Amino acid sequence: MQGLRGLCGGHEMDLVTLAQLILLLLRNLNLKPRKYRLEDLAYAIAAYLLGVQVTRLGIPPSTLYYYTKKLGVKRRREERPQCASCKSNKVIKNGSFKGKTKYKCKTCGKTFYQAYNHKMSKEQKERILKEYLNRMSMRAIAKVEGKPLTTIYSFIRRKGIEAYVHLIVLREQLKAFTAKFTVIDESWSYLRARRGPKRIDLWIWNALVDGVPLSITGNRDHRTFNYLLNSLPKSEVYYTDGYPVYQVLNNHIAGKEYTYTVESHNSYCRAHLARLARDTRAVSRSEAMVNYSLALLYVMYPVVYSREKTPLNEAYLKGIENIRNKLI
Ligand SMILES: [Zn+2]
Repeated sequence: MQGLRGLCGGHEMDLVTLAQLILLLLRNLNLKPRKYRLEDLAYAIAAYLLGVQVTRLGIPPSTLYYYTKKLGVKRRREERPQCASCKSNKVIKNGSFKGKTKYKCKTCGKTFYQAYNHKMSKEQKERILKEYLNRMSMRAIAKVEGKPLTTIYSFIRRKGIEAYVHLIVLREQLKAFTAKFTVIDESWSYLRARRGPKRIDLWIWNALVDGVPLSITGNRDHRTFNYLLNSLPKSEVYYTDGYPVYQVLNNHIAGKEYTYTVESHNSYCRAHLARLARDTRAVSRSEAMVNYSLALLYVMYPVVYSREKTPLNEAYLKGIENIRNKLI
């Protein structure tokens, strides 16, 4: 079980892989939580291990700690600063003043604040997310906000994971509905470099379910498509282009003329995220970060591509509003 802790220490371990690993372990331990789906719990634990605050995951901390302990993973401990005067590591938290955490040294008894405090105000946090979702690169945000790039990066990543986890739960709830129409399309993107041998192709599959955007990333193949399809609510009719993988669909209408709404969704994503635009130097290094960024976008700037209100897209907008309130 120690391996699990090692895995999450690595900075780029992605949420989905970690959650699947945890799910496997939870199943092996034959744990059956009464109130929560095992999948949701696995995602919450994974997000927690990746640095999301325990109070932000929609599952009570006591429940989360209980299952985390069952997995044999130690609770994450916040890093504590060294004592300012004697450099001891035996430091405890000792209340707070004006939002800044106070620490007390158990060796020499002095109280002190952390020397470099990169804590951000609520307004600044919200502004940073908006800047990120309006095509600014993290580097540019770091400059404008006067914060270290690593602070900006880990903040956006943490918020992205949070949004992603909540969206998974919302998606599951939407499966209770039947959509009137679903439009599906794949759009190409890339990781690491625009050109050259380092480039990795990444396909973003977008479905608009009663106009609600639900997307996943992966290859342009059957497997990824099936994965997407399994995560969608049932639909009365499907519109796609002529790409062969879609032929397994029932009530299926193929033709480029039906998928224009997805095209406008693609350009919406590109207009908001520098990493998806094809004419900037901002480049995605990991698929996970693309997913977290899209989740953030869906939560902070919700859109529905349908003039008609349906129970499904109304439930979605209400769910998104709840997630947004939890996020900031
Ligand atoms: Zn001390």
